[in-house]
Amino acid sequence: MTAPGAGPSAGDGFVDLQTHSTASDGALPPARVVEEAARVGLVAIALTDHDTMAGLAEAAEVGARLGVRIVNGVELSTVFRRQELHLLGLHLRDFGPLEAMLADYRVARRARAEQIVARLVSLGVTITMDDVERQATGPAIGRPHVARALVARGAVADLRQAFDKWLGSGRPAFVDKKRLEVADGIAAIHAAGGLAVWAHPGRDGTKDALRGLADLGLDGVEVFHPGHTPDDRLRIAKLADELGLLKSGGSDWHGQFDGPRQLGNQQVPAAWLAAQDARVAARAAGAA
Ligand code: AMP
Ligand code: MN
Ligand code: MN
Repeated sequence: MTAPGAGPSAGDGFVDLQTHSTASDGALPPARVVEEAARVGLVAIALTDHDTMAGLAEAAEVGARLGVRIVNGVELSTVFRRQELHLLGLHLRDFGPLEAMLADYRVARRARAEQIVARLVSLGVTITMDDVERQATGPAIGRPHVARALVARGAVADLRQAFDKWLGSGRPAFVDKKRLEVADGIAAIHAAGGLAVWAHPGRDGTKDALRGLADLGLDGVEVFHPGHTPDDRLRIAKLADELGLLKSGGSDWHGQFDGPRQLGNQQVPAAWLAAQDARVAARAAGAA
């Protein structure tokens, strides 16, 4: 325990409830993400790869060995009021139906990567789908893999330039992604026994939006995220308490590609995870 007056208490330690591995667009395999979590002293992490749960078994195995709890997670790209909303599924238990649904989204991701490559080629950039496949070793392929292929080809200096010049929204090789309605994402996460959590709402995290989502069954919201300002943190924490939403947070770490962004740097208290556990247990008992 921390002495009184010592500032924010580590209490039962810190957790990090948003991370990515090579199962989607992270730099490190799941085992290495968990090793890093152990190295920085986290008591638990959620692995939340985009549109896939393929990394979870490996993470659980290494986590059991190293004493790091692994929360089964996923990050879905959804639409709420015509805008993109990233939705985390945390504490997933029954993967079957969710996995079947996500298989379609991964097929769409591959088709989209092919369209992006075709656009780039038509714009005079030398790149092939093989280049992209080499960067994507896991099942969920995305723009970051195309960006890395562009860097490997020497077409751009770094990932940021790849997005600014070609891949970002409104740029010449941008192709939109298949997304599901947020209500359907929430329902699929609930069917898998998990909690639906709004990832990095930032300034979009208004009372009106959070209330609307709570009405659709949203369970929680990220308060801590590297993209949040101090004002975002304060406002969202207050709204979460007011609306009965669980608090969550994470570094959204993608490994070496994130530069100074570090696993565990959001210092998410383990007490938030304990509150999530309580909600999961209550729901399993039919109480919530
Ligand atoms: P996708 O799901 O394929 O559309 O890829 C989205 C991912 O690309 C995000 O999760 C970020 O990791 C990354 N990304 C999006 N915009 C940028 C950017 N401007 N610079 C670097 N990475 C970006
Ligand atoms: Mn996201
Ligand atoms: Mn993420």
